[in-house]
Amino acid sequence: MSRFLIPQYASLEAYVPGEQPRDRRYIKLNTNESPYPPSPEVVAAVSADAVRDLRLYSDPECRDLKKALADRYGLSPKNVYLANGSDDILNFAFMAFCDRETGAAFPEITYGFYRVFAALHGVPALEIPLREDFSIDYRDYRNIGRTVVIANPNAPTGLSLPLSSVEEIVKSNPGQVVVVDEAYVDFGGETALPLLEKYDNLLIVRTFSKSRSLAGARLGFAFASEELISDLETLRYSTNPYNVNRLTLLAGEAAIRSDDYFTENCRKIMKTRDWVSGELKALGFTVLPSCANFLFASTPRMSGEDFYLGMKERGVLVRHFSNPKISDFNRITVGSEEEMEIFVREAGALQSEGRKGQGR
Ligand code: PMP
Repeated sequence: MSRFLIPQYASLEAYVPGEQPRDRRYIKLNTNESPYPPSPEVVAAVSADAVRDLRLYSDPECRDLKKALADRYGLSPKNVYLANGSDDILNFAFMAFCDRETGAAFPEITYGFYRVFAALHGVPALEIPLREDFSIDYRDYRNIGRTVVIANPNAPTGLSLPLSSVEEIVKSNPGQVVVVDEAYVDFGGETALPLLEKYDNLLIVRTFSKSRSLAGARLGFAFASEELISDLETLRYSTNPYNVNRLTLLAGEAAIRSDDYFTENCRKIMKTRDWVSGELKALGFTVLPSCANFLFASTPRMSGEDFYLGMKERGVLVRHFSNPKISDFNRITVGSEEEMEIFVREAGALQSEGRKGQGR
């Protein structure tokens, strides 16, 4: 630890992103990126002229993209917020809506960044265990009196809560903000959007990183009441008003225009996911029912870590988490059909080697 870091951050355990190794080419199924490139409209939008315009700052109000999103989802631009990836939005949400007094509540097994943001901002976090079957029990969050953060579908499980359960949480906590992180909703989850007109304490966080193939552009968006959006804007203008760059704004607008391409990619990913799920089950794996672009699976034949290492050896990267509650499992991003055929073949071969630690 540096001598210069202030004590407040000295014990901070930073988030560890999925590995991006450069030692060889892998089939990368470890960071939930899309296997498909951005739409042709996006590629055209990031033109040489657009690059030349980079001498100018981006529009801090992000008017064109906010309007495109508002039109697409039937809202007013005043209900839309944009930031440099949805991680940026989650960070602002912790900053804006949680402190030592309000505290935060989120599932014990969920997106690992929530815990980091809580620690970063000195927010006491109540981490609520999942049920035995890895589902979230919405009753645990009713009248909880804390800022609630729920990923729906949840990560890394892929399980989804129905709208009625999300509504129970939002309705029973009128004095608290309920953040619903819908990073994976386009792959079969149920969105909380219909609740927006009824509840002013709901913040829905979305991203262009997964279903719209723009992870590298860093673009997140959120929907909420004007009041919550305006609170978030206060923080954005107090940190970095140009937090979304010009090329990303153009890419995002073009991605919203290419809705058919987006729908088709989501359909392909869901179809491939369901095929892989069936294949893994046939190999004896336990696979949770996923509403996301990944599967969460374990095999009785070897530890989760051995499966991860064995697959890595075979050129396929999946994501393993060391938390003992889920260490039997791996999170497997759904890649292209071809990639997943290789994944299934290699997973089967690794299994039939049969012995623990065989992949090392
Ligand atoms: N929320 C969840 C549940 C995620 O899994 C991720 C991806 N790591 C994010 C938010 C952040 O995505 P991004 O910052 O790329 O928008």
